[in-house]
Amino acid sequence: MSLPLRTVEVAGVYARPGVEPPLGPSRLHLQDGRIARIEPLAQLPPEARHRIALPAPCNAHDHGRGLRTLAFGACDQSLELWLPALAREPKVDPYLRAAVGFARMAEGGVALANHCHNTQDGRALLQEAEAVSRAARDVGVRIAFAVPFAGRNSVVYGPLEPLLAHLPHGDHERLRRMRQPTRTLAENLALVEAIAALEHEGFQVQYGPVGPQWVDDEAMAAIARASADSGRRVHMHLFETQRQRRWADAEYKGGLLGHLDAIGLLSPRLTLAHAVWLDEADCALLAERGVTVSANVSSNLRLRSGMPAFGRWLDAGLRFGLGLDGMSLDDDEDMLRETRLAWHQLQASDRQDRFQPAQLFQALCVDGRRSIVGEDGGGVLQTGAPADMLVLDTQQIVRDRIAPDAPELLELVLARATKAHIHQLWVRGRCIVSDAACASVDLPSLEAALLDDARARHAAEPPDAPAIARLQRALRMHLGCC
Ligand SMILES: [Zn+2]
Repeated sequence: MSLPLRTVEVAGVYARPGVEPPLGPSRLHLQDGRIARIEPLAQLPPEARHRIALPAPCNAHDHGRGLRTLAFGACDQSLELWLPALAREPKVDPYLRAAVGFARMAEGGVALANHCHNTQDGRALLQEAEAVSRAARDVGVRIAFAVPFAGRNSVVYGPLEPLLAHLPHGDHERLRRMRQPTRTLAENLALVEAIAALEHEGFQVQYGPVGPQWVDDEAMAAIARASADSGRRVHMHLFETQRQRRWADAEYKGGLLGHLDAIGLLSPRLTLAHAVWLDEADCALLAERGVTVSANVSSNLRLRSGMPAFGRWLDAGLRFGLGLDGMSLDDDEDMLRETRLAWHQLQASDRQDRFQPAQLFQALCVDGRRSIVGEDGGGVLQTGAPADMLVLDTQQIVRDRIAPDAPELLELVLARATKAHIHQLWVRGRCIVSDAACASVDLPSLEAALLDDARARHAAEPPDAPAIARLQRALRMHLGCC
């Protein structure tokens, strides 16, 4: 599709933030999804006086849920206790679910995102993917859709029986059924091909083994082979919690990562979400294999997972992006706030002062991006690069600065910018957010429709809250956490 020429005037262009000083007043010409030209301006329109352009932020790990987890009563707590509460989510229209999720992300500054699909109906995944593909096109964000593969250790890592000992007999059959995979490996691999037929410039397919504890060795090896053959990327949760790490250490005597390496899964095509509990050797191996990880700081706080060992990542030269995981600190999908939180945490764990704004923007705009669309020359504002760009209005951000040049504007942006300061978000030369509101779809109407749908479904098919509470109680006893 050919897009018309659009122009954007700004007071500064941060082509590579932190790496090189910004260009002064400029007019960016955007055509056919790319930056056609950056023209210096002698005279800037007054309304552009405080506007700056930055490469577009990328959300390296998310689930694209239109309903926030708190909205349906999955309250923040340890991941293993929180997961059963996700069963409270009403089955809603998959288009509304994705469109609201993506439009909120766009308002949060996200131009590209990894979407790890949480299936609502295991037998209707293709229809759900079609709705997600349509939502990505309508909203205008670029989405990598990870097709979920799972088949073991649902409910609890390892055998189910010790957990059942803490539950009434009436619950046993239901939990045994939850341990049964919904789809076979062959069905899942065929689904990847079917969903690939839905691909467009804003929607690409990835293999999505949900996590090593939930995917059997045969499926994992098949995914590694299929990724090598097809060149498609793989996106997987890894070592989000210490319990997952302990499970893996007990299960794989030679080490889980050594096993994943032996089957060929560790490659530049792989992204690992969380990776909170990596040790030094893991970091070195992943860096050597060119794997990207996604840091999800807010999510790790809210789900009591611990903090990523950023110091180790930096020691090993492990590259990483930043992800919201549907769990931003203020539940507002604000990618700029998430970036600030990661920035402070990184600074705190980097005792050698190696981590500078240049590396932060490399994670946010370049390495996270690579985990979504691969190498495409994006993440930088220059002629010929994809026209994916964030324009911030910095008037409020600089309002109390005593001197005009100190601190530097980028320092203030890192310290203060939120989604409220977004003047525009451009994706592939299309303006999808204008004055902090999604411009491509009518988000308030979509949200209202989603909530109506969710409330109606909740009333018609309420979740079995007592059963979920019994399971959480049993898990607490089984895991010894209370
Ligand atoms: Zn996740």
